[in-house]
Amino acid sequence: MSVTTDVVAKVRQVDPDQKEFHQAVEEVMETLEPTVERHPEFVKMKIYERLAEPERTVIFRVPWVDDRNEVQVNRGFRVQFNNAIGPFKGGLRFHPSVNLSIIKFLGFEQVLKNSLTTLAMGGGKGGSDFEPKGKSDGEVMRFCQSFMRELFRHVGPETDVPAGDIGVGGREIGYLYGYYKKIRNDHTGVLTGKGIEYGGSLIRPEATGYGTVYFATEMLATRGLDLKGKRVAISGAGNVAQFAIEKVNQMGGTVISVCDSTSTIIDEQGIDLDKCRYIMELKNIRRGRISEYAKTYKAACFEGENVWDVIRKQGIKVDVALPCATQNEIDEGHAQGLVNNGCLCVAEGANMPSSPEAIRIFQANNLLYGPGKASNAGGVATSGLEMSQNSSKLSWSREEVDGKLLNIMKGIHKSCLDAAEAYGRKGDYVTGANIAGFVKVAKTMVAYGVV
Ligand code: NDP
Repeated sequence: MSVTTDVVAKVRQVDPDQKEFHQAVEEVMETLEPTVERHPEFVKMKIYERLAEPERTVIFRVPWVDDRNEVQVNRGFRVQFNNAIGPFKGGLRFHPSVNLSIIKFLGFEQVLKNSLTTLAMGGGKGGSDFEPKGKSDGEVMRFCQSFMRELFRHVGPETDVPAGDIGVGGREIGYLYGYYKKIRNDHTGVLTGKGIEYGGSLIRPEATGYGTVYFATEMLATRGLDLKGKRVAISGAGNVAQFAIEKVNQMGGTVISVCDSTSTIIDEQGIDLDKCRYIMELKNIRRGRISEYAKTYKAACFEGENVWDVIRKQGIKVDVALPCATQNEIDEGHAQGLVNNGCLCVAEGANMPSSPEAIRIFQANNLLYGPGKASNAGGVATSGLEMSQNSSKLSWSREEVDGKLLNIMKGIHKSCLDAAEAYGRKGDYVTGANIAGFVKVAKTMVAYGVV
């Protein structure tokens, strides 16, 4: 057994029910193998073991009162995974599926992702099993206030800076930040994804989706290709998906799908910018279901299945796939379906949307495959830019932030390729992203000694 396989075995043994966390650790550890020989100091200082153990985990009760005046209780989490290179940083997810395994996998991935951005940010993640869907604004506000009533003591602009994720968008960040400000009597950059009126950054809402498309463009360029005229399949209909749709359109591609957790839309005529505005209004303001799209745009068809199932079963031609919904949405069968239907490139907007078997199929078939920690890092990178603007009390223009985002995505793409080549895995973005992110964190941890 090598050091890295020992770490995977230990993680499985000490927390046997954390399957998403095991999956993330295993995927990373497999690819870190080439660093073991080259960096004996990492082995001596037990960096691999320490990487898989969060610095601190906070689990707390979140009681709140619903509109019927009944008391509800949810569970809150904040996993502060690693702050070697900067304050803990990573989103909050509100979804009924949230548990410690999911928050730990997301926090673990975040450590390497944040390192890849080249900004000074450690990794963390948090959230709750609260379901915002179907709740009134008042209920969401009371929940957010109760959540922050505990979270405030663990976060701070130099300590831990949460942001949004699934179920946490502009509305939730507003309620969380408003309550933090109230109880701390402090206006400070403790959250990112804030409204533009109170310290947010231009382009932060767009950044994950735009960044994913920028990354896909960089990957395509390595084969002399671009997005013009390409058919692009997107999953999800939330923050990341919406701005991925917008950017694909701006780059001349045609988006043919979108979905939410209950249905899939296939629109062979293309989801253009007008239809994208419609989805934004439907999802962000009316908070409706994506199936309504097919009632408005009659040429589109609506299916009750996962978008990747629909593509596989109907043999729909896809050039580029951008999964932007959730973890493990693409399994082995879906991956084979994409390969059979001509897919050239997969860039992940979501975190860990492809299962390990799916990744193996993409790589075995020589697809350009960009793992989420590299391709969706534009969101947290722009959160880092929001932190810089907050601490310098400046606001940058759209063009300035977008230009920095584009450069960061190009830089991440190059770091992945450089690290992959340097460690003998030319063209392998998974190995490249993991090693490039890891080495910086590991060297820093060695410098600190045993802390
Ligand atoms: P949102 O809550 O805005 O949107 C999530 C979308 O995915 C919704 O349309 C939701 O549908 C859909 N969805 C959720 N679960 C499923 C499922 N099981 N099957 C099909 N569709 C599903 O979240 P974001 O867009 O912010 O996040 C999407 C992904 O991107 C997540 O993996 C997140 O971790 C990742 N990410 C987000 C970043 C950000 O800046 N927001 C940064 C980096 C990564 P429904 O409305 O029915 O729930």
